[in-house]
Amino acid sequence: MDTRTVGCLGGGQLGRMMVYAAHRLGVRMCVLDPLGESSPAGQVSELSIKGSFQDAEKIRELASKCDILTLEVEHVNAQALEELHLKGVPVQPLPFVVKLIQDKYDQKVHLQKHRIPLPDFLKVDSEAELHEIGEKFGYPMMLKSRFGAYDGKGNAVVSDAASIPAAWEKLGGKAGKKLYVEKWAPFKMELAVMVARGVDETMNVTMRTYPVVHTVQRDSVCFTCLTPPVGVTQKEQELAQKIATDAIKSFGDARGIFGVEMFLLDDGSVLLNEIAPRPHNTGHYTMEACGVDQFEQHLRAVLGLPLGDCHLRVGGAMMVNILGQGSTPELTAQTMAPLRCALRVPDAGIHWYGKDGCVKGRKMGHITVTGFTPASALEQIRPVLKAVDGEGN
Ligand code: ATP
Ligand code: MG
Ligand code: MG
Repeated sequence: MDTRTVGCLGGGQLGRMMVYAAHRLGVRMCVLDPLGESSPAGQVSELSIKGSFQDAEKIRELASKCDILTLEVEHVNAQALEELHLKGVPVQPLPFVVKLIQDKYDQKVHLQKHRIPLPDFLKVDSEAELHEIGEKFGYPMMLKSRFGAYDGKGNAVVSDAASIPAAWEKLGGKAGKKLYVEKWAPFKMELAVMVARGVDETMNVTMRTYPVVHTVQRDSVCFTCLTPPVGVTQKEQELAQKIATDAIKSFGDARGIFGVEMFLLDDGSVLLNEIAPRPHNTGHYTMEACGVDQFEQHLRAVLGLPLGDCHLRVGGAMMVNILGQGSTPELTAQTMAPLRCALRVPDAGIHWYGKDGCVKGRKMGHITVTGFTPASALEQIRPVLKAVDGEGN
C-alpha cells in the first residue's frame, strides 16, 4: 500500500506497536535503539540499528536507510534531527517541536504565549529563590526537572519550606540540574486526549481528536485509563478536547500524534500538564476501542496519508498497565498473572511487550477491556485489577 520505510528513534513498546500498525499498512520500519534487534520494536521491525537515539552519527545512519524519520520517545538528539531536516530529510513531528517539548519549562512558556491554561510556573535557579516562590505559590508546590523527565522521575513535591533542601537535592539542583517549579494543581481528576495532526491531498492541515480519557497514576506512573470518563460532564470533556487541540495547533506544521495530559479542577476548569509528541500510554485503549488506533494514526499523519476515524466503536474501555514486579521467576510469574487472568475475560486485549528482564516498575505490558458502557468495562476488568494487586488468581 505504501512502499516507504519509516525510521523510528527508540525501540520500546510504543515503537513495537507502531511497527504492528506499519505491517498492516505495508510500511517498512527501521528502529534505532540501544538494544537494536532485541528491543521490543526491533524484535518485530524489518530493520534495526543498535545505538543511542542521542548519537548524531547513528541518527544519520538511520536516515540513510529510511524515507522519513519519526520517534517514540522525545528525549532524543533534536539537534541532529534539525540538521537532517535542514538537509531535506523529512522528519515528523518537526524537530523544533521535539526540542521545545524536551524542555518542560520552554514548553510551558510556549503554551502560555498561545493562551493555553496552565498551572502557574517559574524558573528557579537556587534554593533561596525556591523559598521566595514558596511564599508566592504557597505549599505544596511541584519542583520539576526541565529535561529528561518521565514517569514522575523528574518531580519532587515541596510540601513546606522545610522540605526545600531535600527536594532541591533530589532533583540535582545542587549539581546544577536545570529545574523549574509549578504551583500545585488541586485536581479532581487527570484527563488526557490524543490529538492527530496530518495533511490532506492538497497539503492542508487536518486534525482529529480522540475521546477524553480519565487517567489514574500510581506513584506518578500511569496505572489505569477509562474512557469515556465517569463523572466528567460533556462540557468539561469538550473543554479538555478544545484545550488539547488548541495546544497542538500552536505547533505549526508539525505532524503526528500528540498525547496531551491535563488536570480537571473542582470548578470545571482544565489546566494542561504536559504534551508528548508521540503515541502515549493514555492512547493504548484506541487499539481495541477506536476506528483507527493511535499508532496507525501516527504513521498516517507523518506519512501524509488520510487520517482515520477516532470515534469509539464501543461504549467504554478501560486499560491497565502491567508493571514489572521483579526479575526472579516467582516475581515474573506474578507480573504475568493479570495477563493470564485476562485470557478469561471477554473483550480483553492482551499486550506483552517482550522486554528482556522483568525489572521492577518497568512497563511490561497492558490490558484493555471494552464494554457497552464504561461501567461494564470497569466491571469486566475488575478481576484483572485484582490480579495486578496480587489478589485472586
Ligand atoms: P510522564 O511519564 O507522563 O512523562 P512526567 O515525569 O513528565 O510524566 P508529569 O506529567 O509532569 O511528569 O507529572 C507526573 C504526575 O505528577 C502528574 O501526572 C500528576 O499526577 C502529578 N503532577 C504534576 N504536576 C503537578 C502539579 N503542578 N500539581 C499537582 N500534581 C502534579
Ligand atoms: Mg512527561
Ligand atoms: Mg506526565
